[in-house]
Amino acid sequence: MLGFIILNSTIFIREFIIAHKRNKQDVFIEKLDSALFTYTQKLENTYPLGFFIKLKSVVTSVDQITEYNNIVVKNKFNSAKKDTLKDDEIYVLVLGESARKHNFSLYGYHRNTNPLLARQKNLIKFDDVKTSAGFTHLSVPMILSRTTPQNNTQKFSEPTLVNAFKEASFKTYWLSNQDYKSSSIFKLYAQQVDYYKNTAVSIDVPTYDEILAKEFTTVLNDTTSKKKFIILHLIGNHYRYNLRYPKAFQKFNPITSNKVLFSNNEKNLKEPFTNSYDNSILYTDYVLNLFIDALKKTKKISYLFYISDHGENLYDTNEHLFLHGQLNPTKYELNIPLFIWLSKQYQEEYPIKTTILKENKSKKIASTNSFHTILDLSNITYPTEKLFKSFANKKFDSLQKRYFYRIDKTILKLD
Ligand SMILES: [Zn+2]
Repeated sequence: MLGFIILNSTIFIREFIIAHKRNKQDVFIEKLDSALFTYTQKLENTYPLGFFIKLKSVVTSVDQITEYNNIVVKNKFNSAKKDTLKDDEIYVLVLGESARKHNFSLYGYHRNTNPLLARQKNLIKFDDVKTSAGFTHLSVPMILSRTTPQNNTQKFSEPTLVNAFKEASFKTYWLSNQDYKSSSIFKLYAQQVDYYKNTAVSIDVPTYDEILAKEFTTVLNDTTSKKKFIILHLIGNHYRYNLRYPKAFQKFNPITSNKVLFSNNEKNLKEPFTNSYDNSILYTDYVLNLFIDALKKTKKISYLFYISDHGENLYDTNEHLFLHGQLNPTKYELNIPLFIWLSKQYQEEYPIKTTILKENKSKKIASTNSFHTILDLSNITYPTEKLFKSFANKKFDSLQKRYFYRIDKTILKLD
């Protein structure tokens, strides 16, 4: 028993030290939270304790799913298409991971990390987009639902884009290369779709997003519905960067060793970590291009909306910050890439929306505008819609103030 206590204490202290090294600026509670998370993950892999932890988590998740299903039924959008278009429509939302705007050559980065997307015509990129939270589980619900930093708990009582599209007679698909824990909010959302596929193995093994392209083609070829809404959740550019791209994309060198975790010698890690990260962005360019080409081939009315969940620190400042999730986020964590590709057929069907998107490309945009814009772009309406939050709409409030939800539950004003 004593041995068990010593072993567990040692694991916990070790995780706390790692969390401390990773985010020196964080408050104590945040480091503790981070250490507890990793510690619990490690315990889950032990027997028999891990078995009971997992069992509890599954039971909790079944309860949550039942509760969420009831809420969704009660809180319908009553959404519908504004038109009676007979043609096929394929609308795609790609959720990026830890991709920061700064390292995309589309946005002027000195390295050519987007050679393929740069050649895509009909791609509109938005120059001033800020995320509304610094962690995946906080940020993505603010893209998929009407949850905002001011109303963060709403994510548990809100239906998402999935439900809005279903109500408007779309078939919904969710393809993910991110592993979701059984208690994760993504499980709640994803179990609402008509078709769900998860290709993730583990965050600690090579998991290339290209695997989703094959699944994506299968979904595009699904003849059971003419109207499709597809969510693609990438593992993208998440640490460890070396595990996010195949060898052929190792263009920037030298890269960091896979064995390096965190070190006090951060100055020497900046270059290899940046190289590894840039290789992963180069690969994201390739993967997004695959999706767009597949969509283009269908010759249907379609769009692809890409947004990253948050950015990333790569030892950019004197504070030597790394990764993401700072209480006071840097511009590298806040500024995210957002671009929309529109098919020729889409532009012909919706010329006004196309023009307005182009007009708003340099306006102040928050990740919380995504929900409203995606429905508006799809010409879906519902009684409580707020078109001033859609940057595809002439009513868009380009003077809006943007906010950021911190891990300690306080709200940061960004404008
Ligand atoms: Zn994330």
